[in-house]
Amino acid sequence: MRLEAITFDLDDTLWDNGGVMRRTEDGHYAWLDEALADWLEGRLEAQLSGRGTPAGHPEARGRFAERFPLAAFIERRSRLAGEHPLRRGDFTWLRRRALTELLGEYGLAPDHAEGWALRAMERFMVLRHEVSPHDEVEALLSELGQRYRLASITNGNVEISRLPLGCHFPVAIAAGELLAPKPDPRPFLAALARLGAPSSRALHVGDSWTEDALPARRLGMQAAWIGTDDRPLPPGIHRLDHVRELPELIRWLESRR
Ligand SMILES: [Mg+2]
Repeated sequence: MRLEAITFDLDDTLWDNGGVMRRTEDGHYAWLDEALADWLEGRLEAQLSGRGTPAGHPEARGRFAERFPLAAFIERRSRLAGEHPLRRGDFTWLRRRALTELLGEYGLAPDHAEGWALRAMERFMVLRHEVSPHDEVEALLSELGQRYRLASITNGNVEISRLPLGCHFPVAIAAGELLAPKPDPRPFLAALARLGAPSSRALHVGDSWTEDALPARRLGMQAAWIGTDDRPLPPGIHRLDHVRELPELIRWLESRR
């Protein structure tokens, strides 16, 4: 077969995401707790010395993260995802909305709650992009980019253009923000349309059986599944241990008539 386009999942395909998400989740929440405590203390001091306006946060007592530990934030996000099914894949929206709600319940006025939620999300996004792509990825994409059209398709909130690797992807699809997270076919179709490639000449690479391999295959794409078990593979789905094995698979695909 002749391949024209390759689409890539990001998290746990081009880098290991587990550690990144833990550091990001803990880190931005701790940052918020700390920065907010400093800010409230500053306002209180100003108020006591007669320099400041009334704090207007009569109920913001105790530390934010003590009143609302990380588990409460996670719980609120999953509740919001249930209440807003269309937004279930838009993690950035869910996070910001959940933070705004908790900060309001903590006692901040609405505009302050929104402002602090926004700042916490900025911190989140900085930490979220501290990913370490696998060693082979830069050279791999650089080489593939000379022969194929490449796109990224992620359900997560990494903006590939913020990473050095972003230069290899002329097309980047944020499926959650499309309100159509994988396995919905729309992000795949959007990528193929923008790459100008028919699905029969495209390969999708990803680590999720249900969100990458199966939906890509259903559209007639070839699928490279980075998986750990030896489940039986339907025709058109190919298992890799690691993305570094991709060139071998591509050579084999292209050698077939
Ligand atoms: Mg993934």
